Amino acid sequence: MVSDGMGPASLSLTRSFRQVVEGLDMRDTLVLDDHFWGTSRTRSSNSFVTDSAAGATAFSCGHKSYNTAISMLPDFQPCGTVLEAAKRAGYATGLVVTTDITDATPACFASHVYYRSQGDEIALQEVGEGVLGRTVDLMLGGGRCHFVPNTTLESCRADNVDVTTIAREKHGYTYIDDRAGFDSLKRGKNVSLPLLGLFAATDVPFEIDRRHMANVFPSLSEMALTALTALEEATKDSDKGFFLMIEGSRIDHAGHINDPAAQVREVLEYDKTFKLVLEFLNASDKEGVLVATSDHETGGLALALRKFLSTIPIMLLTPVQRLPASCPSTTGTPLFSPKLTPRPSTSPTSCATTSPGTPNRTQMIFAGGSTQTLLSAGLASMMLSRLRSTPSPRTLWMLYTLLLAWSACAPVLAGAPTATVPWT
Ligand SMILES: [Zn+2]
Repeated sequence: MVSDGMGPASLSLTRSFRQVVEGLDMRDTLVLDDHFWGTSRTRSSNSFVTDSAAGATAFSCGHKSYNTAISMLPDFQPCGTVLEAAKRAGYATGLVVTTDITDATPACFASHVYYRSQGDEIALQEVGEGVLGRTVDLMLGGGRCHFVPNTTLESCRADNVDVTTIAREKHGYTYIDDRAGFDSLKRGKNVSLPLLGLFAATDVPFEIDRRHMANVFPSLSEMALTALTALEEATKDSDKGFFLMIEGSRIDHAGHINDPAAQVREVLEYDKTFKLVLEFLNASDKEGVLVATSDHETGGLALALRKFLSTIPIMLLTPVQRLPASCPSTTGTPLFSPKLTPRPSTSPTSCATTSPGTPNRTQMIFAGGSTQTLLSAGLASMMLSRLRSTPSPRTLWMLYTLLLAWSACAPVLAGAPTATVPWT
């Protein structure tokens, strides 16, 4: 399993978020926390910052390569992937994602191109048009636009090739593209392989939105359970098993756009899926191994900030419980200290005029510490470099006052990731 773009701060944020909104003890952990063994190195060969392509190449091929490489080495030679090796050894194979099935992570298991932007070519290779033929038995996720010809409205292909037709007619795939088709799979009990299921033109919506559109888009956990059940059924009479890559793809996207509200829901859904896979393995009479890792971190999520002229970091996470709108006199009263004390047992979920079913809301407020600190430091060095002689105490005092003002305004001016996370 791959938690794309998830760093330690994402886990910490999600763990604390759940503790607060569900009124759990501060010792409560995610399922992922209980299975933390270590870290993996996925460094890019040409950058200190690894992208999803170099990250996925590192764990699909076992080789470090350059950013944007899709299972291609720095000398532009393709490298064999673990999925291709499994297929060659007689295993069934699958890919489950919530982004385009042609995006960097899934692409790195079943295709080889110089640049991750070659989505049209990746789609063709994934269905079996590469030199190795068809290596994937099951694909579930988004990214239809690279599979339909540019004569159709939702296409993002440069040509008029219909990859779905090639998949069906040349490589034997069953192709489904909507929720009704997904439901017809009966949670994996009614699948004929190979199967190509693409449920969105590009990304499946963030979980925070998708849960309100569950009649249109399946969730990561639903797709993962369907894939596990289908692949186990398909290999029940074989002495070989299956290889399945499941990606929580959009933790990465939520990090890129500095959206902690979306990010916690993505990590929670990934944690739920991780638990589901563990339960599947425990219930199965076949041996199995679950490996879960991340490729890199995105967004530079920071939960603390060292304030200007202070040595003590302060937390940027302030859980605040708000009473229903029908309690105007107390709305916004902070009921939790910033130390994340457990929700009081006498939860103030109602007031005299609360109507039945009115949700009590907790908001967690974040600000982007790293941006603020960087901008403050940048401004300070810019101003100091303009002083040609030793500054007088009066100049220094003015500078100090200006910097304090800037420190307060910087996150807003910079559009820093300040967000509220509704808990309902
Ligand atoms: Zn990534």
